Amino acid sequence: MLYSELADTFDRLEATGSRLEMTDILADFIRGVDRSELRNIIYLSQGKLHPDFIAKELGMADKLVLKAISFTSGAPESKAEELWIKTGDPGEVAEKLISKKKQMTLFAEELTVDRVFKGLTAIQDAEGKDSQDKKMKLLANMLHDSGPIEARYLCRIVTGRMRVGAGDMTILDALALAFATKEDRPVIERAFNVTCDIGYVAETIAEGGMEAINKIGVSIENPIKVMLAERLPSVAEVVAKMGGSCAMEYKYDGIRVQAHVGKDSVKLYSRRWEDLTTNFPDIAEALRARCKAGEVIIEGECVAVDPETGFMLPFQAVTHRRKKHGMDEAVKEISVRIFMFDILYRDGEDMTNRPYLERRSELESTFDIGDKVQMTTMRLVNSSEEGEEFFANAIAARCEGIMAKSTSQDSIYRAGSRGFLWIKYKKDYQQALTDSFDLAVVGAFYGMGKRAGKYGALLMAAFNSDSGKFETVCKLGTGFDDAFLDSMPEMLNSGLSDKKPKTVEAEMVPDVWFQPSVVLEVVAAEITLSPIHTAARDVLKEGSGLGIRFPRFTGRVRDDKSPEQCTTVGEIIEMFEMQAHDSDGLSE
Ligand code: AMP
Repeated sequence: MLYSELADTFDRLEATGSRLEMTDILADFIRGVDRSELRNIIYLSQGKLHPDFIAKELGMADKLVLKAISFTSGAPESKAEELWIKTGDPGEVAEKLISKKKQMTLFAEELTVDRVFKGLTAIQDAEGKDSQDKKMKLLANMLHDSGPIEARYLCRIVTGRMRVGAGDMTILDALALAFATKEDRPVIERAFNVTCDIGYVAETIAEGGMEAINKIGVSIENPIKVMLAERLPSVAEVVAKMGGSCAMEYKYDGIRVQAHVGKDSVKLYSRRWEDLTTNFPDIAEALRARCKAGEVIIEGECVAVDPETGFMLPFQAVTHRRKKHGMDEAVKEISVRIFMFDILYRDGEDMTNRPYLERRSELESTFDIGDKVQMTTMRLVNSSEEGEEFFANAIAARCEGIMAKSTSQDSIYRAGSRGFLWIKYKKDYQQALTDSFDLAVVGAFYGMGKRAGKYGALLMAAFNSDSGKFETVCKLGTGFDDAFLDSMPEMLNSGLSDKKPKTVEAEMVPDVWFQPSVVLEVVAAEITLSPIHTAARDVLKEGSGLGIRFPRFTGRVRDDKSPEQCTTVGEIIEMFEMQAHDSDGLSE
């Protein structure tokens, strides 16, 4: 297929704000795509060359891309830079300058999707001391044969700015529309949830229809989307919701890890599928050594412990293991244990559809428990008194609360979903009115006074998983220390956007916009109805959204969460209701 056809489709997708229309455009397009090309086309539509769990980055620096644009178009670099300063988008710079050049070019070689995919892969893989120059020339070579629209998307893809709105959920809708029925949509989504590879799901359905999709199961090769918990405001309600009895586990405050233990290798994934194996090499080794089966997938929480006393240390200690550099020292200095809480796969058997208690006992018997490899502390609870007692023990053991887990026959592992089969209850709920929030940064306001010349405050948003949009909840200006204020531009500026990103719903207008990418943990005094913030607009009251009052950054950058994994608008509505319920309790 010619790349121009794909670029035109991107252009049409970008032009519409309606998810339904986007789904139709995508479905029509992918129906006509050659099956063998569909997988790569799906990746490209998300600005990627492979699924997220493959740890390779395409990211070319803007300046290098400007160089390629000027090299191809003949326009001086200063001109490209001037346009870039105005728009903040190398894609737009390319579109403007390449359009001028296109009229002068005579012998352009047709640019196919295959050539683009190979060219981008070569850019990604370029290594060595002249790699920057190689990348620049590879891009220039493709730009040479591009029209303006094609150039726009090439430059957006290489700089990580490709956001035409083809989110996972929209692509799944389009796949159902193009190759199956609406009723098949949940099964297609499950295939995605257990593989985390939307390109593979697309290729499978295009080639083998629903029959092939039904056969997709858990495998050691692919990470699985994690199951998440609901929350309730008191232990009594947790126990009642569970029907009077459930299992309770300590809720450890560490880093969640999904371990894929192979016969002779182990891979550890974070909840957003980054490879954490090099961060926890000791855990990887201990899991393999203590595993009695050939291949398993388990989940657990990695927690730092005091090596002398075995006491658990606060979350900050384990974050030293997330650094990019100085890992060897961190491994030596910070002693870590994994507290396992689930098993999803063992030697060819998908365990996700088995009930909780069966999985738990299989997990325990699959490992020789000891030293760095532990089970989470668990107790079967039959009353709220027993639950309260267990919660008090969890806090005394320095955990952040409890995780209640259903023991019913249908207590399966629901990959990628948040539901009441797991309910969390944290000690924070007793102190403040609300849990903490993990919010995406969507904009910034320039500072004044001591903060002049820096970003002084940030516009923060929650994710609406129904619409796929980020909706604002607060302007955050408290809790930043000097080091954090100084680090903000580097952390945020790669997501700069010259206008409000399509995925953001906001009324408040910041000085600069960002594509949602960075997630920060925020605590607040309460959730209130807000005329200015757009989260849950019109849901609880016409003309009002929900905002959070007195927000404060906790110092915790949630780089283990993607923006889509931040607190959802649905959760904020629940918290708001929980809070109303709490204050009812107080006034009784
Ligand atoms: P939260 O991040 O507050 O939504 O809480 C969910 C997280 O708690 C999970 O993603 C795990 O990282 C963590 N966690 C700690 N202990 C457990 C446990 N026993 N079972 C499940 N998750 C746990």
